[in-house]
Amino acid sequence: MRWSQFYLFTTREVPSDAEVVSHRLMIRSGMIKKVAAGIYTYMPYGWRSLQKLSTIVRRELEAAGATELSMPAVQPAELWEESGRWQEYGKELLRIQDRHNRDFCFAPTAEEVITDIVRRDVSSYRQLPINLYQIQEKFRDEIRPRFGLMRGREFLMKDGYSFHTDDASLDDSYQAMQQAYCRIFEACGLEYSVVEADTGNIGGSSSHEFMVLAETGESAVVRCAECHYAANTEKATTRGLLAPPALPANERQLVPTPGAKSVEEVSTLLQIEPSQVVKTLLYETEDGLVAALVRGDREINEIALTNHLGVQHLTLASEEKVRAATGAPVGYAGPVGLDESIRQVADSSVRELDGWVCGANQGDAHYTGCRWERDAGTVEWADILLVEPGDPCPKCGRPLDGFRGIEVGHIFKLGTKYSEKLSCTFLDNEGQSHSMPMGCYGLGIGRTVAAAIEQNHDEDGIIWPRPLAPFEVLVNVLNPKDPEVSAAADAIYASLREAGVDVLYDDRDERPGVKFKDADLIGIPVRIVVGGRSLAQGTVELSHRRDRERHAVAPDAVVSRVLEWLSADSG
Ligand code: ATP
Ligand code: MG
Repeated sequence: MRWSQFYLFTTREVPSDAEVVSHRLMIRSGMIKKVAAGIYTYMPYGWRSLQKLSTIVRRELEAAGATELSMPAVQPAELWEESGRWQEYGKELLRIQDRHNRDFCFAPTAEEVITDIVRRDVSSYRQLPINLYQIQEKFRDEIRPRFGLMRGREFLMKDGYSFHTDDASLDDSYQAMQQAYCRIFEACGLEYSVVEADTGNIGGSSSHEFMVLAETGESAVVRCAECHYAANTEKATTRGLLAPPALPANERQLVPTPGAKSVEEVSTLLQIEPSQVVKTLLYETEDGLVAALVRGDREINEIALTNHLGVQHLTLASEEKVRAATGAPVGYAGPVGLDESIRQVADSSVRELDGWVCGANQGDAHYTGCRWERDAGTVEWADILLVEPGDPCPKCGRPLDGFRGIEVGHIFKLGTKYSEKLSCTFLDNEGQSHSMPMGCYGLGIGRTVAAAIEQNHDEDGIIWPRPLAPFEVLVNVLNPKDPEVSAAADAIYASLREAGVDVLYDDRDERPGVKFKDADLIGIPVRIVVGGRSLAQGTVELSHRRDRERHAVAPDAVVSRVLEWLSADSG
């Protein structure tokens, strides 16, 4: 491709909302263009990279036995009503109406449509298992679209679905997909980790996420170096957290704590550790108020709490609601004497406390010396502590390491959640009818490319891993107006194309400085510079974007050297 004919305009202008480096570099290198919040055009240079990834994804999925199809982006509400998600899915679901006022949505995912397809075609165990996927635009009306393609509203996702006769068959496909994902991310040259994950509103019994390690990642992950337990902190648990020393508990006392609302203030005032306080947070849910209790020095895992409660919506209660429920301002709630109609869920970490301190459900007062059996009302115990790096591994007890990651893929065992609701059944070899166990497998195409840039860049621009590079080789002619130089560059370009190399030919009539800067910015892995001075010595210059070390090579040796370099750099 000749740059002079290609549509690629780099820019120095970076929008103020571009907080992460991949977003800035994608804008600057002309890969994407914003149309509205979280909605982007994939410009030709960016589209090529998304296509390269899609090709890798297709290759690995087909090898693992999956078949591609393409479903509509606009889906009828009836199917979503059948699954119950028309009501359950929150504001992220973009609901639209046609001219007859019929309800539709723009697909955020496609369990309903695929299940409808399979229930119409498949009736016998002989037709199973089935594994289908598509690569298609999704829409989710994210509350905070940001980071460019990393968290868009419209975004390109590969979504796959499998259908089975039994759980053993589902396990097999799940394993096969997990391995295919590993091969995909390895083929992209990414540093990643597979972690246990929460199943979210997609539902199901078991799930793993694929995390690309990056400082700017939105997900927090803990991992055990000893036994390799790894989990998203939304899902992670811990066991054997050291309990703080017990405090005197012979009798409970009401003590004045004027103005001390936070755990910090209370523990300073009473000269105790924050961990000896039972922190009580009130949440609103569709089933009413809930009190969540956790050690004063720790945070609540709201996902775990939501799952334990089995609710759809969970938000911190407003100040008025707290006041109405406890009779006290925010900061003084506690499990002692709390209105019995409020469901109380306590983390296992506070169970071992003795002589603990809590808000007294009245302004400017706390209780000290509390005991669970004697003082608290009915409490449900659950693991709702947000696990932090340093906490003991739930499997082997070694302190967990923490890191940040970008979730690029997510696979789930759905079980029969959708097949039951949509009556997607088959007859077994004895003529008995069963719902099909299902799996589903998502992979963010745009997010993965963004993650690759997060991991591969320097201060001058992108350093593409070859498999995702929009082009593999850049030929840069320094003085295109010089007929001799331009003829030599044309010849190199032609012979590289002939050899099947994916090459961008910077034949623009621009100053060398501009071309070098652009080359660094757009980050094509191999660069060939053709200029008058080196040609006079019978050479052109080859370099890798990664180290930019220059190698003088005779023009007729360029193709073989480039092919050598490319095959050595498989990712
Ligand atoms: P997140 O927790 O980041 O919101 P999710 O759990 O909602 O993601 P899934 O439903 O598991 O995402 O979607 C499968 C994959 O699609 C994700 O692993 C991610 O790579 C990609 N993805 C999800 N939401 C977005 C988005 N808003 N923008 C870009 N890619 C996304
Ligand atoms: Mg997810």
